[in-house]
Amino acid sequence: MDLITNKADLQTWVNAKGGRYRALVPTMGALHRGHTSLFDLARLHADEKAGDVLATIFVNPTQFGPSEDYDAYPRPLEEDLKECRQHGVDAVFAPVASDMYAPNRSITITESNLTRGLCGASRPGHFDGVCTVVAKLFLLTRADVAVFGEKDYQQLAVIRRMVRDLDFPIEIIGAPTVRESDGLALSSRNAYLSSAERAQAPILHRALQVTAEAIRERRVKTAQEARLYFEEAFSVASLARLDYFDIVEASTLQSLSGEISLAAEATRLLAAAFYGKTRLIDNCAGLRGN
Ligand code: AMP
Repeated sequence: MDLITNKADLQTWVNAKGGRYRALVPTMGALHRGHTSLFDLARLHADEKAGDVLATIFVNPTQFGPSEDYDAYPRPLEEDLKECRQHGVDAVFAPVASDMYAPNRSITITESNLTRGLCGASRPGHFDGVCTVVAKLFLLTRADVAVFGEKDYQQLAVIRRMVRDLDFPIEIIGAPTVRESDGLALSSRNAYLSSAERAQAPILHRALQVTAEAIRERRVKTAQEARLYFEEAFSVASLARLDYFDIVEASTLQSLSGEISLAAEATRLLAAAFYGKTRLIDNCAGLRGN
């Protein structure tokens, strides 16, 4: 496995590969089974085309708000490289921020519709940072396909939109969320939770699931009822503070209002909550499996 630590070496590596097929998995490191499931999926796609899997490990400063955990974010590079090796990654690009960003950089990519609500409302500027770094990674790596987790559902939708609207020649694949046995979605941030918070953390997933079930069984018929139902189910997480819950149309992320039609486009339920200072997010399919 090749370790590439700067943009110039990445260009040399990419050029040496000629037209060889490439599957990209962008991450911020602190790798867990959620990330490695993306490597495995990328490996399958790459193998079909006799291609390579390229992972990136970069804690991207521009997607963190001023009061967020950029400095504290875990960076266990040696362990991460081991995971990459074990999951068939051919090369890892792990640059430093000063290589990725010119000090007087002045161009940012802004998605102006899908990012208005949900995490975009709670984390101003976050998706500008995500879009800009992902666009840079697409250009630098010239990958044919990139794999992203449904765990970050809004991010996946925003990246699909960016690729569509800016004509990036890349295919985007969404991968299902990998969970602990109690339902908690794996996240690098789970390590911040106290044991009491960890014990209540799966309630976020459970409350989403029971709300989705109530909608499917028509015990809950309107978006407003869904919100109340979720809040009630989540209220048993006494240590948590709900950031948001919403029920949206799956591809546009538009909030539903009024009656939830069984004939509606696929819906998605999304939520975020603070457990102490740790912000967890999760989502699940609504009416139709999606
Ligand atoms: P991050 O390192 O948090 O930026 O995540 C890198 C990629 O891994 C993103 O596409 C995430 O959606 C994905 N990811 C993170 N956690 C999970 C999980 N539990 N299951 C599946 N994918 C995940």
